[in-house]
Amino acid sequence: MRQKNALMPTLRTVSEAEMISHQLMLRAGYIRQLAAGIYTYLPLGYRVLNKVSNIVREEMDRIGAQELLLPALHPSELWQETGRWDAYGPELFKVKDRHDREFAAGPTHEEVITNLLRGEINSYKKLPMSLYQIQTKFRDEKRPRSGLLRGREFLMKDAYSFHADRESLDKTYEDMYQAYQNIFTRLGLDFRAVEADAGAIGGKGTHEFMVLSEAGEDTIAMCASCDYAANIEMATVVSETQAEERVAGSAIEKVATPGKRSIEEVASFLQVGPERLVKSLLFVVDGEPVLVLVRGDHEVNDVKVKNLLEGAVCELADEETVRRVAGVPSGFVGPVGLKEQVKVLADQAVMQLGSLIVGANEVDAHLMHVQVDRDFTVDLVGDLRNIQEGDVCPRCGGAIHFKRGIEVGHVFKLGTRYSEAMNARFLDANGKEQPFIMGCYGIGISRVVASVIEQHHDENGIVWPVAVAPFTVHLIAVNMKNEEQSKVAESLYAELKQAGIEVLFDDRLERAGVKFKDADLLGIPVRITVGAKAGEGLAEIKLRRSGESKEVAVADLLNELP
Ligand code: ATP
Ligand code: MG
Ligand code: MG
Ligand code: MG
Repeated sequence: MRQKNALMPTLRTVSEAEMISHQLMLRAGYIRQLAAGIYTYLPLGYRVLNKVSNIVREEMDRIGAQELLLPALHPSELWQETGRWDAYGPELFKVKDRHDREFAAGPTHEEVITNLLRGEINSYKKLPMSLYQIQTKFRDEKRPRSGLLRGREFLMKDAYSFHADRESLDKTYEDMYQAYQNIFTRLGLDFRAVEADAGAIGGKGTHEFMVLSEAGEDTIAMCASCDYAANIEMATVVSETQAEERVAGSAIEKVATPGKRSIEEVASFLQVGPERLVKSLLFVVDGEPVLVLVRGDHEVNDVKVKNLLEGAVCELADEETVRRVAGVPSGFVGPVGLKEQVKVLADQAVMQLGSLIVGANEVDAHLMHVQVDRDFTVDLVGDLRNIQEGDVCPRCGGAIHFKRGIEVGHVFKLGTRYSEAMNARFLDANGKEQPFIMGCYGIGISRVVASVIEQHHDENGIVWPVAVAPFTVHLIAVNMKNEEQSKVAESLYAELKQAGIEVLFDDRLERAGVKFKDADLLGIPVRITVGAKAGEGLAEIKLRRSGESKEVAVADLLNELP
């Protein structure tokens, strides 16, 4: 591409941008803002965006995901089916058509893809199936001030997988996880996969991919000695489904060996971070550590205990789950008093499961009272709290430190949250109707572009990794008015293109200083300068990252390229 007539407006300074990636993308002429959080990708910016998209595309295709394109406008009825028309909150852009029918400008596509599959796939024989798209998303973010890091209109790759059973979901989740590792490695990012909170989207099992950067809005708790890493956000939420999982799975089946344990030990035993147990409490019952899952405040009085207990019981147990997990008769919550509830729950749970799942700070006292006929001891091991810097790693005992991170990717096991709500079912091998088991997997393509810059820049501008650079080579003719120079540069330009190398040719009639400053700002990995020595058949190759340079014979230039 020739620079002379290109839309690449560079600026020496910008005033409005806080983030370095935002500043540099404005200054280097990659983007322009139309409104808060809404950007135009100029030709250079668009090339980078496409580079990232293509890497993501290759890795998605490699694991057998199929690319499609879903609509950006979603009828409100679909979002009402899952309750998210209201629950999604003010981030949802809503628009009306001429008949006053309401639509959402899609912030994510679980509803739309589930709607598609429920109409098209009705047999287990077609499963598993993974689909993805690369599409513009709309979210009316509260603080869209960081350039591409947080847009109100932004580009996302979102994938969705559909399964007949949990094992199949686990397998695809692993494939996606690995694909994400490949993608972010290829993009030249220093990143970590961290345990995450499922948040409003719901579901069990989720990791975020975090680019380590001070510009990040997330805080990650990381261990200095092992690969433990978690978003501290999850420290404040125990979602319904997570709680259920822990009770149905790890908490009950795994807590088996008697003995008093520290929070860290139990958390490590359960393979969750202690921060995941926050606002829950830990007891030892009959010598066994017991996980108590309570949502909310744990400075409790009797009324609060009651609320918490009811909350906890309800959270842990819709009727079916109670019966399945604890064998507790349905309807036991409500009419009976607090102590009765504790007793019933304690009896049932301990008898059935060898564990107890109720609680709050002062429940120990109540339990002492209600258990006369049984020989119970309940010791409060400790309040769970948010993980802090300097804490002991729940996995290995190493030291926890905090780092800032930019969330560039997120993988979720959704389970049947959407298929149940939307009645999306298939026939299993026995001819029985089952809801699809689902996963979803997002990457913020445009956010990735900004994240790469956050990690790859110096005081003079952007320093692109080759994989995402808008061009590989920046060819600069120092003085286009000089016939010799322009001739050599023109023929090199043709030769490089011929060799399939992506080259930007600075054929402008600007001063050398301007050209070099712009070149540094733009950040293209290899610079070839044709200057005063063109007549002797010599040019200079310079690497943007290291600043290393050497003189080479023009005739030999292609072989000399790194
Ligand atoms: P955040 O916590 O930063 O608001 P999120 O958890 O709401 O992100 P997801 O719903 O998990 O985002 O969406 C998948 C991916 O889309 C994110 O991992 C992120 O990379 C990207 N993304 C989300 N919101 C934005 C945004 N406003 N601008 C750019 N990229 C975004
Ligand atoms: Mg968000
Ligand atoms: Mg997030
Ligand atoms: Mg997320």
